[in-house]
Amino acid sequence: MRDSDLTKLLGWPGYRVYRHEINERAKTLKLWIRRKRGNKKLVCSGCGRRLDEAHEVSEREVRDLPCMEFRTTVMVEVYRVCCPDCGVKMERVPQLPSKAPFSKRFEDAVGQACESAAARQVALRFGLAASTVRAIDLRYLERWAASRRKPALARMGVDEIYLGKKQKFITVVSNLDSGEPLWFGRERKKETLDQFFREELSAGQKMRITAACVDMWEPFRLSIEQWAPNCRIVYDKFHVMQHANKAIDEVRRAEFFRKGGRLRELVKGKRWLLLSRWVNLTASKRRELNQLFALNRKVFKAYLLKESLDRLWSYHYEGAMLNYLQRWVDQLRWQRLEPFQKLAAMLLDHLEGILNYCRTKVPLGVVEAINGNIKALMRRGRGYRNLRYLLLKAQRMATLKTEFVVLRKVA
Ligand SMILES: [Zn+2]
Repeated sequence: MRDSDLTKLLGWPGYRVYRHEINERAKTLKLWIRRKRGNKKLVCSGCGRRLDEAHEVSEREVRDLPCMEFRTTVMVEVYRVCCPDCGVKMERVPQLPSKAPFSKRFEDAVGQACESAAARQVALRFGLAASTVRAIDLRYLERWAASRRKPALARMGVDEIYLGKKQKFITVVSNLDSGEPLWFGRERKKETLDQFFREELSAGQKMRITAACVDMWEPFRLSIEQWAPNCRIVYDKFHVMQHANKAIDEVRRAEFFRKGGRLRELVKGKRWLLLSRWVNLTASKRRELNQLFALNRKVFKAYLLKESLDRLWSYHYEGAMLNYLQRWVDQLRWQRLEPFQKLAAMLLDHLEGILNYCRTKVPLGVVEAINGNIKALMRRGRGYRNLRYLLLKAQRMATLKTEFVVLRKVA
C-alpha cells in the first residue's frame, strides 16, 4: 500500500503519512505522519498566537481509531514553538487535545460509547483500563461543556441528594427551564448555596432569577433571599410529597415494625407499596395494600391523607388551594397521627411558598427527573468520587434527552 493512499485513509487535515508498518499477526497498523508541505503555520498551545518558526521537533505516539480490524497507532511529528508571550510551548494540533496518548477522534469514540454503557463495559470493548476510560470520558465531557452555550437561568431548583455514608449530602442547583443540573456543592448548609451565588453568577444573572423550587429547608431559603432579590420561593409538589412519604413511613414503622412477631412478617417489603400512588398500582398490588389496611386502620388513614395531599396541586387559584389545604389539615383532628400533624404544622409554616405555586409557574417534575438521573448515574457508575465528572455526566444526559424529545416531535 502506498503512503499517499494511507494519507487519504488517515484523513488528518494537513498531515501526510511518510512511513507505515503492518503487523498481520498482531493486527496492528502503525503510521508515521508529518505536516504536508503547504501546512507551515504553527499555533502556540498557550495563547493561540500564530507563529512561523519551529523551535524544535519531536515525535508523539497516539492511539487512533482502528483501521478495519487493525488497531492503529499514529506517530506524529510535533513542534515546539518559541512564543513571545508564553516562552517555549508545544504547538496546538487539533487531533491532539491533551497530553494523553490518544487522538481526539479516538477519545470522542470512547466518550460516545460511555453515554450508553458503563465505563467497565467500554473498557472491555476498547481494551483499556476502566480508569483510563473514565479519564478520557471526563476530557470528552469537558470539551463538550467548553464548546456549548450555557442556557440562561430564570427558574432554578435547589435540592439535596444523599450520596452515601462517606460523602453524605450534596446540594444540587439545577436549571428548571433547560432541565439540567448546573452545580454541585458539598453539604447542604447556607454557606453551600452562598458559594454558588457568589462564584457562579454575575450580579445581573442573580437579578434575572425569578423562581426557585426548593425543599422546606431553612438554610436554602435564607441564602436565596440574600442573593436573589427577585426570586420567588416555591415549595413544589415533589418536595412536599417527599415529606408526606416520610410521614407515612413513620406511621408504618410505629404501627408494625416495633410490634415485632407475625405482623411484622406480614408487612415486610410493603414499604414501597405505601409510598406508591394508588393510580400507579396494578390490581394485585392494590389487593396486597388492602390486606394491609384491613390489619391496621391508622396506616390506611395515613395512606388516604398522603393520596389526598397530592391533589393540592390540581388547584390553580390561591383561594381554592388554601381552602383545600385547610380542609386537609382539619381531617387530622382526632386521628392521633403525629407524623402527619408535624407535616401539617410544617406546611402552615411555609404557606407563602406553597401558595406561590399559583402565582409563579414552575415546570413540575423537572427537579424529580434531574434527581432520578443523578441517582441512576450513581447506581450505574458505582459512586462518583469526582463530583465534577458526575455533574458533567448528568448535564450531558439531560441534553441528550432534550435532543431526543425534539427529534420525536419532528418525526
Ligand atoms: Zn503563546
